[in-house]
Amino acid sequence: MPRLRVYRTRAIVLKRRDQGEADRVLTVFTPSMGKRIFIARGVRKPASRKAGHLEPFTHVSLLLAKGRTWDLITQAQMVTSFQGLREDLDHAAYAYYFIELIDAFSEEEDSQPSLFDLLLLSLERLEQSPDLTLTARWFELAILRLSGYQPQLFSCVECGDELEPVTNYFSLEQGGVLCSKHGEGRRGAEPLAVGTLKVLRYIQTQPYNTVMQLKLSSGRMRQVEKLLAEHIRYVLERRLKSPRFISLISQS
Ligand SMILES: [Zn+2]
Repeated sequence: MPRLRVYRTRAIVLKRRDQGEADRVLTVFTPSMGKRIFIARGVRKPASRKAGHLEPFTHVSLLLAKGRTWDLITQAQMVTSFQGLREDLDHAAYAYYFIELIDAFSEEEDSQPSLFDLLLLSLERLEQSPDLTLTARWFELAILRLSGYQPQLFSCVECGDELEPVTNYFSLEQGGVLCSKHGEGRRGAEPLAVGTLKVLRYIQTQPYNTVMQLKLSSGRMRQVEKLLAEHIRYVLERRLKSPRFISLISQS
């Protein structure tokens, strides 16, 4: 059988960079081929019809031709533009955070259909969300679960005992909560308030629509946000860019 020269896939654009005079190299996430790098030729020319379809976090249907280094995008059709995310700076900042997280948690050409589904669903939810912060926390815990880095929040990561409703401790190194006996005085283990642990468990285990009913004080929300950000930074061994941008615009 001859090798197939053209093929079609859906994709969500994660990032792009300019190449040469008019080309663009795109990192996209696909349902069946995971993260891939494609090239779009001539896309920066004013007459290009593909350009608008290949912006970050657009959901597109692509026709590709096999190439030597990168496969070539020959056609791009919009599936969902997520215009609602683009029109508002806060929404856009979170959408950039979501694609940055997916990029960080995925390897090239490693097929992860569930991660694609999660990203698509999360962008849809973000566009409709009345509480972007809460949607983001839900997304973080969902991506951690799918990637195998779900923080252990129900039993002590050291002794396995069920956690008591007292101040416990969170250990980045051990990826979860230590009971008061094993956490107290432990280097790198931070005290974790009962209320914060409850909220984390709730977001980790409840359906999205139930999670979105939560009404939290800004202090509690910050605790949850900080712990997850630290956990993610520890897992990825680096700091992501978009959280700083989100905090900058939320202060202004
Ligand atoms: Zn313990």
